[in-house]
Amino acid sequence: MLNLFNRTHSSRTVIIAVSFFWIFFTNFTFFNHVLKIYPPSLLNSISIFSLTIVLLSTTILILTLIVNRWIFKPFMIILLMVTASVAYFMDSYDIVVDTHMITNIMQTNFNESADLFSLKMVAYILFLGVLPSWIVYKLQITHLPYKKQIISDIKTVALIVVIVAATILTFSKFYTSFFREHKPLRYYANPSFCLYSVGKSVSDACSYESKELKLIGQDAKISSNDKNRKLIILVVGESARADHFSLNGYSRETNPLLKKEDIINFSDFTSCGTETAVSVPCMFSSFGRKEYEGKKALYTENVLDVFTHAGANVLWRDNNSDSKGVALRVPYEDFKLPKNNTMCSDGECRDEGMLVGLQKYIDAHPKGDIVIVLHQMGNHGPAYYKRYPKEFEKFTPVCKTNQLEQCTQAEITNAYDNVILYTDYFLSKVIGLLKQNDNSFGTAMFYVSDHGESLGENGLYLHGFPYAIAPDTQKHVPAVMWFGKQFKVNKDKLAKKAKESLSHDAYFHTALNLLDVNTTVYKPELSILNGIH
Ligand SMILES: [Zn+2]
Repeated sequence: MLNLFNRTHSSRTVIIAVSFFWIFFTNFTFFNHVLKIYPPSLLNSISIFSLTIVLLSTTILILTLIVNRWIFKPFMIILLMVTASVAYFMDSYDIVVDTHMITNIMQTNFNESADLFSLKMVAYILFLGVLPSWIVYKLQITHLPYKKQIISDIKTVALIVVIVAATILTFSKFYTSFFREHKPLRYYANPSFCLYSVGKSVSDACSYESKELKLIGQDAKISSNDKNRKLIILVVGESARADHFSLNGYSRETNPLLKKEDIINFSDFTSCGTETAVSVPCMFSSFGRKEYEGKKALYTENVLDVFTHAGANVLWRDNNSDSKGVALRVPYEDFKLPKNNTMCSDGECRDEGMLVGLQKYIDAHPKGDIVIVLHQMGNHGPAYYKRYPKEFEKFTPVCKTNQLEQCTQAEITNAYDNVILYTDYFLSKVIGLLKQNDNSFGTAMFYVSDHGESLGENGLYLHGFPYAIAPDTQKHVPAVMWFGKQFKVNKDKLAKKAKESLSHDAYFHTALNLLDVNTTVYKPELSILNGIH
C-alpha cells in the first residue's frame, strides 16, 4: 500500500483503475439483469464479455471527457461516493437513477432520506465510496503538460470509439437486440447512466422555455373549382424498404395484390429521417428535411391542422407507437388497444383492424372532405415474425425470436418479406374501401413508409443510423398512389413523374394538393401532383 502512495501515477492510470473498480464492484445489478436475459452459454458469455468491454470503454471515455486537472481529485471523490450510493440503491431496491429520480432526490427532505438509512448502506458507502476515495486522495497524481494532455485525450477518445464501434459491429446482432429490445438494461450501467441522467437533467433545466404553438395556413380553403367531395387515405408505413417491394424489381413476389391495381409506384423516394420520431413529424410538417428540427415542428401546426382550417374532417388511426406529436389537435384513435382494434391476439394488433368501422366513420360525416391517416405497425422490428397472420408466412423458414443473433440472414429476411406481403394485402384492402366509396367521393390513397430498414448488410440491423452515414436501405422507401374514377389526375404524366427522385419533402404540399387546398403555405412547385391534373 505504501508503495502505491510513494510513487506518482498518471491521471489516465487512475481513470482506468477507477473504471475497472466500478465495473467489477458497482455493477452487480447490471450484470444480474443481463444474465437473466442472456443465461450463461458459450455464445452468451462471449457477448457478455464484449458488453463488459463496451461498458468499461465508455466509462473511461466519459471520465476522460469530464474530469480535468483542476478538479481531478474532488471530482473523482464525488463520483466515487455517488457511484457507491447508486450501487447500494440499485442492489437493494433494483431502482435506477434516471432524471425523475434525480428530481426526486433534489426534492427529498432529510427525514425521508433518514428512512433509507441502514447498516448495509454504511457498508456500501464505506467500502465502495470512502475507501477508494481515500486512496485517490492520498495518491500523487501527475498530469501531462496542457497541450500534451489534450492530444493524449483526443487519442484516447479516438481509440475508445474505434474499440466500441468494432466490438458493436462484430456482435451487431447481439447489440441490435440489446439496445432495442432490452433498453431498460442500460439504465443499470453504473455510473454511466446516472451521469447521463445528471447531464440530461441539467440540460433540460437549462433549455426549458415555454413554447407557444405557431399557427399556419389559417387562410386555407378548399378550391372553388373542386366540386366533388374528397375521401383521401394517407397510409404511413413502418420500416418498409423500397428494394423489398416487387413493384420496385425485388426478385420475390411481395406485391401480388398491388400489382393488380391501377397504382402509381414511386421507385426513387427517400425519407426525411431514419427513425419514426423524426420521419413522421417531418413528413407532416411544412419543413423540408434540411430545415426540420424536432421542437420547431412540434410547436408549429402541420398539414393536418391546415386541413382542419380548410374545413375538412380529419381522423388519425394509429397501430404504431403514436403519432409523434402530429395528431395532437385532430381526432386520434389508438388501434393497439383491443377495445378499438377488433383484430388483436397474443398482444399483437393487426394493421387491418384499422379498417374495421371506417365505413361507419365515413357515413357519419355527410359534409366536407375526409382525410384519414392510417399509421401502420408494418415492418416494425426486430420481431418481424409477429407482424403478420400465419397465412402470410409464404417465405420460410422464418426467424422466430427478437434475438436476431440466434437467426440466420435468410430467416430474418424471410420474416421481413412476409410482413411486406401483409402490407401489400393491407393496402389492397384500403383501395377496396375507397372503391366502395367511389361514387360519392373523389378518392385517393397515398402510401409511403416512414424510413427503411437494414437487414444485416455490413453488419447493420433495424434503422435509426445517423442520416449522413445511414445506408440507402434505411432511407429509400416504398411509395404508392392510387386514385378513384372521379379523381382528376393525368396518370400518364404522373407515371413519368414517379420515376424521378422524390422525397418526404414533397409530402406536406402533395397532401394539400390532393385535397385542393388553397393557402399561402402551399408551394405548388414542391407538390408531386403539381401540373398533373
Ligand atoms: Zn418507423
